[in-house]
Amino acid sequence: PEQKGTHITILHTNDTHARAVEESPNMGYAKVAGIADKYRKDNPNTLLLDGGDAIHGTTFATLVNGESIVKVMNEMGYDAIVPGNHEFNYGWEHLVKLSKDLNFPMISANVKKKNSTGLFDPYIIKEVDGVKLGIIALTTPETAYKTNPKNVEGIEFTDPSDEMQKYVDELRNKVDVIVALAHIGQDDSDTDNTFDVVEEVDGIDVYIDGHSHTTLEDGILADNGTLIASAGEYTKYVGVVDLWVDGGDVVKKKASLIDEKEAAGIAPNEKVAALVGSITKEQAPILDEVVANIATDLEGAREKVRTGETNLGDLIADALRDVSGADVALTNGGGIRASIDKGDVTKGEVITVLPFGNQIVTLNVKGEDLIAALENGVKSYPEASGGFPQISGFTFKIDPSKEAGNRVHSVMVGGKAIDPEATYSLATNDFTSIGGDEYDMFKKYSQAGLYGSLDEALITHLQKLGKGTVTTDGRISEGTAP
Ligand code: ATP
Ligand code: ZN
Repeated sequence: PEQKGTHITILHTNDTHARAVEESPNMGYAKVAGIADKYRKDNPNTLLLDGGDAIHGTTFATLVNGESIVKVMNEMGYDAIVPGNHEFNYGWEHLVKLSKDLNFPMISANVKKKNSTGLFDPYIIKEVDGVKLGIIALTTPETAYKTNPKNVEGIEFTDPSDEMQKYVDELRNKVDVIVALAHIGQDDSDTDNTFDVVEEVDGIDVYIDGHSHTTLEDGILADNGTLIASAGEYTKYVGVVDLWVDGGDVVKKKASLIDEKEAAGIAPNEKVAALVGSITKEQAPILDEVVANIATDLEGAREKVRTGETNLGDLIADALRDVSGADVALTNGGGIRASIDKGDVTKGEVITVLPFGNQIVTLNVKGEDLIAALENGVKSYPEASGGFPQISGFTFKIDPSKEAGNRVHSVMVGGKAIDPEATYSLATNDFTSIGGDEYDMFKKYSQAGLYGSLDEALITHLQKLGKGTVTTDGRISEGTAP
């Protein structure tokens, strides 16, 4: 027999990270839009939501500070998006501006001006075929330290569970269905993760998640009845939540995913395809410009640059020291986002490696703070962390048998033992210079100099390198403390 009640379909994406173009297994935005078209045709009671981290991650987005994604998402007919941490990568003021260019709402209940009102509406109410859905959004408080601190200056991220409970209570008697749209994620965190929010908050029917890039084939049904759904990453999947609502109650719900195989017979949306195509074409002359030709593959894989010295890490740190003339340089491994293959290197590849538009700054830092910085950088070692230091002009050893905070030794600057009391000029990026990745010891120093962008410095350095080979030289190594 037919399922009783009004059938509503919620389609969802998350962590698409600007994978606008189809590149298997990523379906790209045109295909995602085509899937949405097909579902809307089959069931007009269909919504399309995004769980955040859409506007940063490829040159398609970073070249124009996310504006390209806004245009494409407007064409796709989204109903709402929650800002993820990466939505703040161009600064919160810019995000507010972008949100106004969207033809659908950006919502989040826990992003606020300090001691003041929300930056966005906390929720929307959608009426679909007589059924009212309250969609309440949350952004990971990790954003406060995962993006450049200046991008979130003056705003704060309040407690996800508290805010969610508050708005669930407010909407409970006004709507039939409560949907959480959350860029919170399922990884352990020092703030509430998705499982904490679901456990602590009463009354969420469906919880659509992002941030941890989790692929949930058919969702997770929590003990209290909340259905958690999450659609992986990079447009590999479109999530599908089917709901049947009868007499103001959800009488049945289920979650599933569509991948490129299942979508094989579905036509991409032509308008979205044309738009993505024209933006790509517009950007090509800039991105395809060959800026260097090198003889060595340069290692920038996430698990490498966040756990140890790599030749690309060395090179970028060398580039920082080179343009600034500083004694030493340090840049966070997490800021290096891709490898570079030998041969021609394009501008696009360089921006893909360094997508944050970081500037090079110098600080005059006491030796003891340089040591503290290295301790901070290797505190998770051998576990990966974004703060892992890629360095130049100095060398050090890590003793992993020692406690975090006390495992760095044999620090040498220019071949001589570091003097904790002496002052050294340090080149770093604007992210770490103001305390990004918990380099708090740098915060007390005012900027001594500014030396242009990291990507330009890397290009200059690659050109200088020419056909030379680049191998790591052991500036960072493991060793038992004396
Ligand atoms: P997701 O991509 O799903 O949000 P995530 O945000 O947890 O995941 P990661 O890929 O772990 O992101 O990246 C976080 C790391 O990126 C930070 O620890 C830091 O090393 C680096 N990072 C973030 N913003 C900047 C920036 N503006 N400049 C330099 N590095 C940055
Ligand atoms: Zn995220």
